[in-house]
Amino acid sequence: MESTAADLEFVLVPCAACSALNRIPRRRLSEDPKCGRCHDKVFPRKPVTVTDASWKAQVDECPITVLVDFWADWCGPCKAIAPVLEQIASERGGRLKIVKLNVDQNPKMAARFGVRSIPNLVLLRGPMHLDQMAGAMPKASLDAWLDRFI
Ligand SMILES: [Zn+2]
Repeated sequence: MESTAADLEFVLVPCAACSALNRIPRRRLSEDPKCGRCHDKVFPRKPVTVTDASWKAQVDECPITVLVDFWADWCGPCKAIAPVLEQIASERGGRLKIVKLNVDQNPKMAARFGVRSIPNLVLLRGPMHLDQMAGAMPKASLDAWLDRFI
């Protein structure tokens, strides 16, 4: 196969398990790469907490699709959807990263995405805003929604 400029491109990805920075060829990102230091999977299998401050590193710079769950402690439907998101994070690990942002503690990102009701789910790929949905829903509906994008 002919090599292209894209083949030579690398991305730096912090390991979900040990935080070591891994230099991964872009064309290998879809192969669910392992960490060079701890040999665990680089991409997380569980939802990860994100804040306004860590947004850039955790979301903007993530080379795979990210699902952001905007939630709060007092929100019943958010609690209901949490185990569903845990399951999806495990099932789709390596292709989808799920992050959780507490809207009370991180008003900046909640404002940027116009979050007025929670749970609010935003699907992003790099700078691309793929879709956004408000309200809790059964796992089958969430899976059908995600299948349209990943
Ligand atoms: Zn590691």
